[in-house]
Amino acid sequence: MKNDTSIELHLPTPVEKMSFRGRDYFLKRDELISEDFSGNKGRKFHSILKKELPHIKRVISYGSNQSNAMYSLSVLAKARGWEFIYHTDHIPDLLRRTPVGNYAAALRNGTQFITGKKMDEIELDDETLFIEEGGRELFALEGVRELAMEIERWYSEENLDELDIFLPSGTGTTALFLQKSLIEAGSAIRVYTTPCVGDRDYLLEQFRMLEEDRSLYPTIVDSARKYHFGKLYREFYEIWIELRDSCGVEFDLLYDPKGWLVLTQYEREMAKNILYIHQGGIKGNESMLARYERKFARR
Ligand SMILES: *Cc1c(COP(=O)(O)O)cnc(C)c1O
Repeated sequence: MKNDTSIELHLPTPVEKMSFRGRDYFLKRDELISEDFSGNKGRKFHSILKKELPHIKRVISYGSNQSNAMYSLSVLAKARGWEFIYHTDHIPDLLRRTPVGNYAAALRNGTQFITGKKMDEIELDDETLFIEEGGRELFALEGVRELAMEIERWYSEENLDELDIFLPSGTGTTALFLQKSLIEAGSAIRVYTTPCVGDRDYLLEQFRMLEEDRSLYPTIVDSARKYHFGKLYREFYEIWIELRDSCGVEFDLLYDPKGWLVLTQYEREMAKNILYIHQGGIKGNESMLARYERKFARR
């Protein structure tokens, strides 16, 4: 049986100092966990990579045709010798003909794409592991708890007297389980997040699907302006370029631009020490960057 020896994970990930617009931050570089299995998807799916699941032969999931979770699951399935079946609404002709980004990488890993099926038509059996869109699953707690413990250990070694964490949310699974793990470990570190998919109410709804106790929820902060997930905004592109050029770090183009815009608006109300978590997603930048360059034509 194949197991996690086929993917080498570099844990714990380093924390580095960075400076942006005249303010210092710490950066947890979770995008460096491994080349193919990194960021928060690497954390969330870590327990599935390690666990003995002798009866499982395939993974089924669903979501968008450029999802970061889809790509990570294709890597996981390949490493475990499982089939990976992925349901998505639609694959545009252009993408079919010239695959790019997460879609191209998932195809190379042998992903079978199925379009236009309703979720309740999908048949599941004992040999199939079904994973919710974006990895919004209870099993993610184990891997995210490891992230929390890495941060807590680093925090006490550094002798810092206070710390807030900031990370942008999709399903909110990572932010929620991080805050929950820290509180349950007796830590005073607070987690702040901003919704990138949907609004504050949507994010609270996502939290509720995983955890009833509201005292374990992270603090939600948001921008005055509403942004739609996956749409292109000039200020997103600009802050992404500014981060790349001034800090030398490539962030993700779907979540991090909103993350940094909101963080720069709220940092004055947060602790003196702020840790930003780089949650990966670099593979997806290929398709996003092409779209941004077509729209705003600047390099
Ligand atoms: C998936 C993803 C997120 C959102 O993670 P959730 O746990 O769903 O909130 C944020 N950033 C990147 C780069 C991602 O790939």
